[in-house]
Amino acid sequence: MYKLVILAVMTFNLGYDLVMRVLAVRQKKKPLPENVRDIYDEKEYARWREYSAEKSRAGLVSTLADFVLGLILFGTNVLSAVYHVLPGGDYLKSILLMLVYAAFLTLWSIPYEYYVTMKIEGKYGFNKTDGKTFVTDTVSNFVINFIVNAALMCFAMFMFDRMGTMFFVVLFAFIALFMLAVNMLSMTFMRIFNKFTPLPDGSLRDTLVAMFREAGYELSDIRVMDASRRTTKVNAFCTGLGKFKKIALYDNLVENYTEDEIAAVFAHELAHFKHRDTAKMTAYNMLTMAVLTAMIAAFALIPQISFDYGFTDVNFAFAIAALTGVLLSPVMTVLQIPSAFFGRRYEYRADRMAAELGYGEAMVTVLKKLARDNFSDLNPHPVIVALEHNHPTVSARIEAIRKVEKKR
Ligand SMILES: [Zn+2]
Repeated sequence: MYKLVILAVMTFNLGYDLVMRVLAVRQKKKPLPENVRDIYDEKEYARWREYSAEKSRAGLVSTLADFVLGLILFGTNVLSAVYHVLPGGDYLKSILLMLVYAAFLTLWSIPYEYYVTMKIEGKYGFNKTDGKTFVTDTVSNFVINFIVNAALMCFAMFMFDRMGTMFFVVLFAFIALFMLAVNMLSMTFMRIFNKFTPLPDGSLRDTLVAMFREAGYELSDIRVMDASRRTTKVNAFCTGLGKFKKIALYDNLVENYTEDEIAAVFAHELAHFKHRDTAKMTAYNMLTMAVLTAMIAAFALIPQISFDYGFTDVNFAFAIAALTGVLLSPVMTVLQIPSAFFGRRYEYRADRMAAELGYGEAMVTVLKKLARDNFSDLNPHPVIVALEHNHPTVSARIEAIRKVEKKR
């Protein structure tokens, strides 16, 4: 019975994916909104269409290949058959099953990943990865994912043995702490692995300091971070507890943008900071993790799911495989809708702050520059935006900024 449920969810996932693809293909035939037509010239836009068509063809092949793989893994008892021939006790067997499963999945996805990053992105000039980096990235992603999943699984197994079904409370606390730790570590890593140089005195510094005071903060430091070694992204962020704050600007931003544009980006980020938008998103992610925990608990509470797949007991390696491979995706699709909605609202609010401070036009040029640099989709289907995008479209953002400008 549970096999049918899992196969039904798999089919739903495939259907959803195909519908989104059809919408995307149809949307590409529509003309671009008036206010973003100057972002690409005709030749560039033709190239973008070619690029996105190639990517979506490759994506379709990969979706279908994954569905076939899913049929093999979750339509049969192959996972328990592998489990029963593995050596060791419950823990070792489960870890090995997870290793075999993860390794197989990685190998399965390599042709697609290789084709997209090396062939397609290479052809259009985005790819900054060489063959060697591709291999190291693939291997390190595999190792990190495996360690995280194996730790989670062993912890779940251990607590389930000790506490029975109440284990999921502890499991949730473990996942929540783990997420917080990752968040904090990434900040620390950024501090360790990047160089921060003070922003020299001058009109830019004065503008930023004034804006900051206006928002009610006292400034202790403005620094420029050498982000360009790793990314082409532009960003600015504020840190620090209490009233005294530090600001860091990406060097990409300082070097490639005009003073007004930097001020616009800064005003935008300041609005996010003031309204604690990132913290709200983290809180929402916690909710997602609670749902994940509840789903792991469901596997523990309903041993029949494991039995239907030929296991003789509740099997957490199988549970994690079924969750990450099939069951989590529709849940995420649903949970993503409100978070994307609020994400878009936060972006509008942040843009509004930039416009109200007089940097509306500069914000518009920044958005256009960013869209050009990222080779962005200028006209995604409204349904896809509503379901999946946590940023409004460039065109919608420009329109909203212009409205604020008119009122000023
Ligand atoms: Zn933003």
